[in-house]
Amino acid sequence: MAEYLAVLREGLIELAGPPGQEAARDPGRLRALLQHLEEVREWNRLVNLTGITDLGEMVVKHTLDSAALLGRVPVSPGMRVLDVGTGAGFPGVVLGLLVPGVRLSLLDSLQKRCRFLEHLCQVLWPGDREVEVLWGRAEEWGHRPGYREAYDLVTARAVAEMRVLAELCLPFVRVGGRFVALKGPGGRQEVAEAARALATLGGEVTGLWEVTLPAGAGERLLVEVTKVRPTPALYPRRPGVPEKRPL
Ligand code: SAM
Repeated sequence: MAEYLAVLREGLIELAGPPGQEAARDPGRLRALLQHLEEVREWNRLVNLTGITDLGEMVVKHTLDSAALLGRVPVSPGMRVLDVGTGAGFPGVVLGLLVPGVRLSLLDSLQKRCRFLEHLCQVLWPGDREVEVLWGRAEEWGHRPGYREAYDLVTARAVAEMRVLAELCLPFVRVGGRFVALKGPGGRQEVAEAARALATLGGEVTGLWEVTLPAGAGERLLVEVTKVRPTPALYPRRPGVPEKRPL
């Protein structure tokens, strides 16, 4: 366990900005980040949550990959944050643990994954913390009052290509807020192809940052899109349509 802890602590200091540096000094928070991974491994026997099951690899490819967003994008207590297609809670749960006090929504279309997330929230944030699990499709939740144009920050990792993601995520962002996609090295091409979609949906690319993960785990690209205009009421289109006919 001590070796994973060292990799986690060093990675947080290097990649995750002030919240990472603070967490690296806080044994409780480090423990919670590892507990998240332990819960994923435990539940992964019954519910398909991840293909990566080695704890050392999970620390780098799941937790630190998620945390790296904080090295570039300021996230502070009180902010409303939504993670679309969160799966086992990446990056949403990691952000929630690193920035206590964020108002976190975790959205996924698979009911079994949402059951896991409900359990995880009970374990990590027992009591009345402002964390909610939303089961369903982004195409539907994105039209609901209280959710549409209501978030300061919307994140997504490994959910869809950028044109599709823009339609799933931007409707949730308030004007002036941000949508951040965690992408692989092919992200730049996707961003170029999404120019029209972003303009249609009211977004503008305001940041593109490369991240090198430790332990030779590869390169990532963080894409920040700022919402500059409201999204037309037509979007998102019906479930499945954004993917079938990307903007
Ligand atoms: N973000 C997590 C990660 O990086 O480990 C999970 C990635 S997993 C490959 C994609 C997740 O997005 C799945 O859990 C899937 O159920 C969810 N998803 C895909 N399309 C969605 C949609 N339209 N609305 C809500 N969730 C969706």
